[in-house]
Amino acid sequence: MFQKITSQQAIELEDRYGAHNYHPLPVVLSKGKGAKVWDAEGKEYYDFLSAYSAVNQGHCHPKIVKAMQEQAETLTLTSRAFYNDVLGVYEKYITEYFGYDRVLPMNTGVEADETALKLCRKWGYLKKGIPQNQAKIVACENNFHGRTITIISISTDPDAFSDYGPFTPGFVTIPYNDLEALERALKDPNVAGFLVEPIQGEAGVYVPEDGYLKKSYDLCKKHNVLFIADEVQTGIARTGKLLACDHEGVRPDILILGKALSGGAMPVSAVLADDEIMLTIKPGQHGSTFGGNPLAGRVAIAALEVVKEEKLAERATYLGEIFRQKMREIDSPMIELVRGKGLLNAVVIKPQNGKEAWDICMKMAENGVLAKPTHGHIIRFAPPLVISEEELLDAIERIEKSILSFT
Ligand code: PLP
Repeated sequence: MFQKITSQQAIELEDRYGAHNYHPLPVVLSKGKGAKVWDAEGKEYYDFLSAYSAVNQGHCHPKIVKAMQEQAETLTLTSRAFYNDVLGVYEKYITEYFGYDRVLPMNTGVEADETALKLCRKWGYLKKGIPQNQAKIVACENNFHGRTITIISISTDPDAFSDYGPFTPGFVTIPYNDLEALERALKDPNVAGFLVEPIQGEAGVYVPEDGYLKKSYDLCKKHNVLFIADEVQTGIARTGKLLACDHEGVRPDILILGKALSGGAMPVSAVLADDEIMLTIKPGQHGSTFGGNPLAGRVAIAALEVVKEEKLAERATYLGEIFRQKMREIDSPMIELVRGKGLLNAVVIKPQNGKEAWDICMKMAENGVLAKPTHGHIIRFAPPLVISEEELLDAIERIEKSILSFT
C-alpha cells in the first residue's frame, strides 16, 4: 500500500525535494469524485479549477476509470514502431467526432502546440511556397501555449521567458482581439499561420469581441494563412460548445486539443487537420514515444463519449449563465468585473484594505471552494462540467461569504 501522509508532511516533502516552480495554495488533495475533492485530513472542497480545465468530466469519472483499468491490464505502450489495435479505432473516432481528415496524437498540450507549429511551417514551405527558413507564425500578446523554449519564444510574459533565451525566431506577436493588427501582419507573404486561443485562459479569461474569431479566420483565408486554434483549455465543452470556435462557426485549419481529452486521467493531446496539411509530415519527421499509446486511446474515447452522453456543453452553457449572474449580484467593492463563457469564468478583484485575490482564495479554501488567482488580481472559476446545479449554488454561497468577509 502507498503510505498515507498528513497535509503538513506532504507540503514539507514537496518543499524540500521538489523544484520550486509552482506556488500552490496550501491545500493537499488526496481524493476526488465528480466536482469535489478531499484533502489528506478528509476536508471536502468544490474544485473550481478542474486542473486548469483538464477535469471537465469530473474527477475519477467511472467510465473513464473503467476504460483505463481495462486497457492498463491489457496493453499500455507499444511505441509507434509497431501498430496497436486501439490507435486506429481512436483515430477514426476522434476525427469523426471533430470533423477532420486526420489526427496526430501527442501527450501534453505544449507538445500538441509544438506539433501544430511544425505542421504549419511544413505546410508553409511545401504548399504555400515560402522560401526555406523564412516562415513566420503570428501569435497574440498575453498568450499561453505552454512552457517549451519555442513556445515561450512567443510569450510576452516575463515570468515565462526571462533568462531562457536565446529564443526561437520566426514569430510575430500582435495584440489580441485586434483585427487591424492581424490584417497588417498577414500582408507579409511569408506568414504561414495565425495561432490563437479562442478565449485567453491563462491570461485571465479574456473573451474577445463577438465576431473576432470569424473575422480572423476570414482574414487568414484571404491571405492564404492557416488559422490554428489552441483549444487546449477552451475545447471539449468548457465554454458551452464542443469547441470555443463553434460559437462563431469557425472550423480551424489546425485544431489543438489537450487537457480534457483524457478527462484528467493522463496526458493526452492531439492535433487535427485535413490531408493537405497533415500529410506534409512524412514517416520519421515527427513523433513521440508515448503519443498514440493504446492506454491514451481508450481513455480519450471514453472521455469524449462522456462529453456527449452527459451533454456537458449544454450544462456548461446553462450553469455558466447562473454563475455569472449570481457573481454579478454579489454586493462587494472587491468585485470589479465578472467575465467568461460557459463554465470558463473569471472575476477581476479590486484589492481592499490590503486584501487581494490570493486572500480571497485562501478564505474560499477555508469555506470549501478551491480556486487560484492568475496574474495577481484575477480569479478563474472553472468547476468540472458535471457539477450539479445544487452543488453550484452551494459553492456560490461559499464564494460570496468568503468575498463578503473582507468588506
Ligand atoms: N495551451 C493552452 C491554451 C493552455 O491553457 C495550456 C495549459 O494551460 C497549454 C497549451 C499547455 O498545456 P500543457 O500544460 O499540458 O503542456
